[in-house]
Amino acid sequence: MERNIYKEALSRLDLAASYPKVDPEIVEKLKHPKLCLKVSVPVRMDDGSLKIFEGFRVHHNDLRGPTKGGIRYHPLVNIKEMEAFAFLMTMKCAVAGIPFGGAKGGISVDPKKMSPMELERLTRNYIDLIADSIGPEKDILAPDLNTNPMIISWILDQYSNIVRHAAPAVVTGKPIPLGGSQGREGATGRGAYYCIKELEKIHGWKPEEIRVAIQGFGNVAQSVAELLYKDRYKIVAASDSQGGIFQSKGLDVPSVIQLKKESREIQDVYCKGALCKLADGKRITNEALLELDVDILIPAAIENQITKKNADKIKARFIVEIANGPTTTEADGILNKKGVFIVPDILANAGGVTVSYFEWVQNKYGYYWSLKKVNAQLHKIISQEFKNIYHLMDKHKVDMRTASYIHALNRHCEAATSQGTYSYFSKNKK
Ligand code: NAD
Repeated sequence: MERNIYKEALSRLDLAASYPKVDPEIVEKLKHPKLCLKVSVPVRMDDGSLKIFEGFRVHHNDLRGPTKGGIRYHPLVNIKEMEAFAFLMTMKCAVAGIPFGGAKGGISVDPKKMSPMELERLTRNYIDLIADSIGPEKDILAPDLNTNPMIISWILDQYSNIVRHAAPAVVTGKPIPLGGSQGREGATGRGAYYCIKELEKIHGWKPEEIRVAIQGFGNVAQSVAELLYKDRYKIVAASDSQGGIFQSKGLDVPSVIQLKKESREIQDVYCKGALCKLADGKRITNEALLELDVDILIPAAIENQITKKNADKIKARFIVEIANGPTTTEADGILNKKGVFIVPDILANAGGVTVSYFEWVQNKYGYYWSLKKVNAQLHKIISQEFKNIYHLMDKHKVDMRTASYIHALNRHCEAATSQGTYSYFSKNKK
């Protein structure tokens, strides 16, 4: 049966709501996205034919600020998935304490089968269709799976053409010359790295003794791998959609990243070469990578990778979820029983939206920060929220995912109760 990621996310919300006794109205409201947009995106292909692709944009909740969320290009994109990810964004922004609500968008397409010009037409036509629902004060876009800085700059250009002025704050993850922030490209990986450094402080391990496997070797995975490698963590395995490589003594991460970069020709949007064909090491499948005997497993590819089918075979002691929704609730139960410690997606990958917020602030302010300032502010937020959530784990005797939801819900409730809830209005009834 196909996984209903939205239903799972809501069951995690219900569980969290039972701890601090949240007003049921607030929880009920969070269960319903504010707006779900479905558009048909026409594209004139290079051979002259016309193709129509399904596109989506979901605003989940804007109580704490304008909605914010990535755009993904993938054949499996669908409305239910978008609703789930938009919900996760609402929770993630609340976890990080930044004044945004959640959104998500995407197009059901295999972008690697398109030429760069087809991809540009697809992107611009999609923006034309959703333009009324987005904007710096309304809904801010960002990169996600298969949407890189070049695609982001087409989004910016198209939106600016529509509103007839430069509007850099409509999308984050822009190239720096177009108003991007220093440090945004590596921010999601850096946020996950700061979470691992918090674990390092708690457990007192030596980095050189810690073996790490990373599933997915895209933007985010490469930046966390680079930072961990510099600290002498052993990255023993990495993979992409075509398979992976394993080296027990640890991969030479900078040269693997270099090979991946070189496999993108100047006119191509995506890498051409598969990791397992480019770099040295024993070839392994993505399934085998997840089951390796390592200390830390980092799923950094797509959702639904750790399920009830393989949860029992996972040997890692820690899982740091960079991908959104890589672990199903059933798998969560199995892993918790086994004592596997999971740093959940809404905390582990919150570095991206945090620096996106910094980018938006800089665009609106028209004054740009140094890399040092961006990284210092990011570190402050992620390590503080990690500690806040760790404290809640202890207080409520729950796993880190539940504690993260409790933390997000507490922040959301502070905003919701300021507008009044049932108890306020029923008391004031004439
Ligand atoms: P990306 O497109 O740069 O990289 C994705 C990588 O995953 C690629 O190497 C791809 O080959 C690989 N992959 C795809 N399908 C796979 C499969 N079935 N098995 C193994 N590998 C597979 O994307 P990214 O920006 O690095 O994002 C990675 C994940 O992190 C996504 O789930 C995304 O939602 C999440 N995320 C990204 C950001 C961000 O700032 N980019 C922020 C939060 C969360």
